[in-house]
Amino acid sequence: MCGTVGTADQGQPVVVAGWVNHRRDHGGLTFIDLRDHTGVVQLVFNPAKSPTAQAVAERSRLEWVLRVEGTVGLRPEGSENPNLPTGAIEIAVDNCEVLSQSEAIPLGISDDSTADERVRLQYRYLDLRRPRMQRNLRARHRFIKALRDAADEMDFVEIETPTLIPSTPEGARDFMVPSRLWPGHVWALPQSPQIYKQLSMVGGFDRYFQIARCWRDEDLRADRQFEFTQLDLEMSFVDEEEIYEVLETMISRAFEAAFGTAVPIPWPRLPYKEAMVRYGSDKPDTRFGHELQDVSGLFSTSKFRVFEGAISSGGSVMALRVPGGAELKRGELEGEWLQVARTYGAPGLAYMWRRAGAFEGAIAKFISEAEQAALTTQLGLADGDLVCFTAGPTRVAATAMGAVRLHAARRFSWIPENRFNFLWVTEFPLFEKDAATGKIGAVHHPFTQPHPDDWSLVGTDPERVRSRAYDIVCNGVELGSGSLRITRPDQQAAIFEALGLSPEEAERKFGFLISAFRYGPPPHGGFAAGIDRIVMLGVGESSIREVIAFPKTQTGGDPMTGSPTPVSTEQLTEVGLRLGPRALPGNPAGVGDRGA
Ligand code: ASP
Repeated sequence: MCGTVGTADQGQPVVVAGWVNHRRDHGGLTFIDLRDHTGVVQLVFNPAKSPTAQAVAERSRLEWVLRVEGTVGLRPEGSENPNLPTGAIEIAVDNCEVLSQSEAIPLGISDDSTADERVRLQYRYLDLRRPRMQRNLRARHRFIKALRDAADEMDFVEIETPTLIPSTPEGARDFMVPSRLWPGHVWALPQSPQIYKQLSMVGGFDRYFQIARCWRDEDLRADRQFEFTQLDLEMSFVDEEEIYEVLETMISRAFEAAFGTAVPIPWPRLPYKEAMVRYGSDKPDTRFGHELQDVSGLFSTSKFRVFEGAISSGGSVMALRVPGGAELKRGELEGEWLQVARTYGAPGLAYMWRRAGAFEGAIAKFISEAEQAALTTQLGLADGDLVCFTAGPTRVAATAMGAVRLHAARRFSWIPENRFNFLWVTEFPLFEKDAATGKIGAVHHPFTQPHPDDWSLVGTDPERVRSRAYDIVCNGVELGSGSLRITRPDQQAAIFEALGLSPEEAERKFGFLISAFRYGPPPHGGFAAGIDRIVMLGVGESSIREVIAFPKTQTGGDPMTGSPTPVSTEQLTEVGLRLGPRALPGNPAGVGDRGA
């Protein structure tokens, strides 16, 4: 391989093949840097020694593919390149064959920092040649391989579940596949193998896993694609602790194998409620402190109406201390900072500067001396600080302040680099109310067990029911979730009822699962971890598109293949479909011209 020829090969005949990375003519000789994924090696063509090879070299262009035979020698003194692993040697070429030619390329290969993402995705096969994608996809390979090895060692069996299935209830929109044999009927692509993995437990495979492709028809973001890959697993006869241990072992081992970073285990556990109060988020970034403070206790009789009003109507006042924040100007606080709080539902962002032992700012005069003193003590405020507040329904106030905390962290560089803070967030609520429709929905999915102490609330006060669901979070990113499952048909029926599913509907959608639970289901639970997201974190990228070989653009198209594509009437008729009018003009792949 190009990158592995070294001084130990001096005097040896070698054959290498690869792409022309660079070509220059110098002092009557022709030099080519030949590249493969292992690196670059310098070839020297001497017209006096092998005129035919030199003639080939002279007409070679960037990204042509060559095969050469030659002899390894040390580079002349003074022309070594200490920055290159092969920088001490070169290959004196005897024979050179052109294996293929290349047109002028639309993006640079060796300089992989530049190029528009659209161009990169349109010519993904060229982009894949670049060091960044080579590094990322090889790390991904190592990660998945290490996961498989660990799963195998722990007696897990990989079972392939089907990809044409009935709709699964993971809460997102399904991709549907029309059935030709049953016109008017559809298959769905799985949002997860959830039901099948539970049925495998009933089938006596007590440790199932799969590197599973899943599909969700949702708007795309930096950390979301229509199709994604997860480490999916399920285990029988376990409780939460055993599931935590298995995942900590698998993921920490694979993380170290793939990215060379040790991840200490066990990971801390943080109940959902505590995460919300301390970080204003169910996926807290714990790489830095600067936790939120609930200061409702200080302001319950406050003259500052905004605070007092929020508390008397059952809400909270949340505060954040920003050391050094006294330097922030009003314009910035009432611009960007306020906008962050508003985006997360808070009506406003109150703040005070602390300078020379006193509080300054528009609200300072409404806060009594006693309140100021208590605040100073609770938050440990000092001169040069800023303290900001959100007030309102507890969840809104906390979430908005959690977002402000992250904003402050970026603004004041609180986040240490090269740290991976994995943790478990536990005891998620079982149900949540949809703000728009007022309907109760499952936070995780309807097969999740309630906390054993909360069964009595299922029918009466569903929003207070805690679940036996848990997430893995790292650096503020949710990496996966799981739960212990319900296995008693009567209990499953009670949950369906709480979710507003009629017995007929429940039977129609999940009858097969309930039936299975009549035949000795073992107690079980499981987890699914997002492989794309973990690899993204591991290699230090900020978009999962950087760790997926052929992703879609953020607008949900593929500029390389020009898809999705229109479909012929014949094809539609065959599957019994007729399409409505086109809603969007133009090419969904986002390119006027599909290129080659
Ligand atoms: N099916 C769930 C998901 O994909 C994970 C699980 O409960 O195991 O998020």
